[in-house]
Amino acid sequence: MMREEIVFGPIHSRRLGSSLGINLLPEKGKLCNFDCIYCECGWNKDGREDKVIPDAEKLRQALQAKLEDCAAKGIPIDSITFSGDGEPTLNPDFPEIIDITIALRDKYFPSAKVSVLSNATRVGKPEVFQALRKVDNPILKLDAPTDQLVQRINQPQGEYHVRDVVEALRKFEGDFVLQTMFLRSPDFDSSSPEVLNGWMEIVRELRPREVMVYTLDREAPAEGLEKFTVEEMESLIRPLREEGFKVQVRG
Ligand code: SF4
Repeated sequence: MMREEIVFGPIHSRRLGSSLGINLLPEKGKLCNFDCIYCECGWNKDGREDKVIPDAEKLRQALQAKLEDCAAKGIPIDSITFSGDGEPTLNPDFPEIIDITIALRDKYFPSAKVSVLSNATRVGKPEVFQALRKVDNPILKLDAPTDQLVQRINQPQGEYHVRDVVEALRKFEGDFVLQTMFLRSPDFDSSSPEVLNGWMEIVRELRPREVMVYTLDREAPAEGLEKFTVEEMESLIRPLREEGFKVQVRG
């Protein structure tokens, strides 16, 4: 699914209320430094025809116009979420864009929450880290506890080490949301004891204020992937709940 506008919505969701989405990536392509086997935008190689990335000024104009329009029509905005066709922190203007978004939010809809969905590959960069610290909900992905499994599930396009990302995430001191996809394929299984326990150890080390566990939703580009039921995921994460972690499971 590709979003063809920088600012899209608002759409209504039970979880987020009236929600605007922001896509900082090419309008007609996907740009990501992961190539997850479950990515709803498809494979990187199939989404390369458009390389134009919106800059901070373009975002400012699009967001201001949308917020003004919503305010004038009395349409409420509860959340503004960066979740485009790829990894938002790859936009070179990302830090500036966060500042602009927060300023516009404060002006038009001060109670709206700003969220960023990121694959966490760039949290070690000080400017990206600082920007993510400013938003209400930095929602950061970590799907597997070992480099080998990340290679299999997320197919990083450059160097990637789980340990480096965990070290960078520690700097949030738990003030972030950890997002993890549970899935099964013929050669790996998020619920196998070594995968599950390794992941839980990372959760215990990072102590995120919230953990979001989800599974396949739309059609994935890879074949042979299986989703989990909500009941299965609930039972897998029970030990974390019992230890006091806030865990949200989405089917
Ligand atoms: S990180 Fe997100 S956008 Fe990037 S490949 Fe994975 S699912 Fe797709």
